[in-house]
Amino acid sequence: MSDRYSRQTLFAGIGPEGQERLARGRVLVVGAGALGSAALDMLVRAGVGTVRFVDRDTVETSNLQRQSLYDEEDAREGIPKAEGARRRLAAVNPEVALEPLALDLHAGNVREVMAGTDLVVDATDNFETRYLINDAAVSTGTPWIYAACVGSYGMTLTVLPGRTGCLRCVVPDVPPPGASPTCDTAGVIAPAVQAVASYAVAEALKLLAGRDEDLATGIWHLDVWERTAYRMDIGKPDPDCPACGRREFPFLEGDASGALLTLCGRNAVQVRPAASPDPNGAGPDFLEQLGGRLAELPEVRGSLRSTSHLLQFEVAGRRLVVFPDGRTIVHGSGDPAEARTLVSRYIGS
Ligand SMILES: [Zn+2]
Repeated sequence: MSDRYSRQTLFAGIGPEGQERLARGRVLVVGAGALGSAALDMLVRAGVGTVRFVDRDTVETSNLQRQSLYDEEDAREGIPKAEGARRRLAAVNPEVALEPLALDLHAGNVREVMAGTDLVVDATDNFETRYLINDAAVSTGTPWIYAACVGSYGMTLTVLPGRTGCLRCVVPDVPPPGASPTCDTAGVIAPAVQAVASYAVAEALKLLAGRDEDLATGIWHLDVWERTAYRMDIGKPDPDCPACGRREFPFLEGDASGALLTLCGRNAVQVRPAASPDPNGAGPDFLEQLGGRLAELPEVRGSLRSTSHLLQFEVAGRRLVVFPDGRTIVHGSGDPAEARTLVSRYIGS
């Protein structure tokens, strides 16, 4: 037997038995950006049996300061983060079954994406997706770990449905846009990301190793610049909570077609097809057929680039990136109407 995990099994909190449990564990990480990179790297090195991860974005140069799974070449190629992460993680530990998904998590696919996993680690950058995860997790009784980071601080919360309060016990509704600082408005430093991811992954290892008695309760807030860490108690599930108490899960019924989504502060808009027959893709030949059609258009032909993972081109001063699941991200404009027009003109709906 290899000694890959010898230092981890020596640690009393894990031990040989905990390691065997980790090897049988199945975890979903939502987001493969900054927190996702750090969390995935640790979970894969730790030998968690199956690691599924979902991300809708591509690698850009501005990611490299903190998104530790990616390098200069990934940014130059502009590859999907799901694919960049898969490459890197496969080289880190070939014993782990990796399940990369380059797609946008939404009400129409969240249950399928979560199916068969023991726990969900939140590594997203937006509240809409966290409320979606919370509803899906509470409704199915799946533990999930909230993690968020901005500037030099961040928070984690371990949610055990039925045993602890959930996100909606604390904040019943999605905060309005602009209500809280984001990485795009306040920036973020890498040590804050690594610290928050470490707290979250330690919780994940406890859960997967069967050490529930060691789990942290409440919200942990830490700031690496101020050097502070404190805990806020949130108590038991609130009987008045819309999710835990009343068992209402509006985010799961949300706009499953989800035609449009503005990416926060990124000067980019994502457009989803009105109805994607298959949550994993718009069909195997979709990108190839689209590329063939676009190559006939003089205004597009010169800038058209395609790989098996995506297709991109420039038109009207905007850059359009199309994914195999039929989504398009329009870069260079924050205007949803303009993005919708470009997508219906060049991609179709
Ligand atoms: Zn609740």
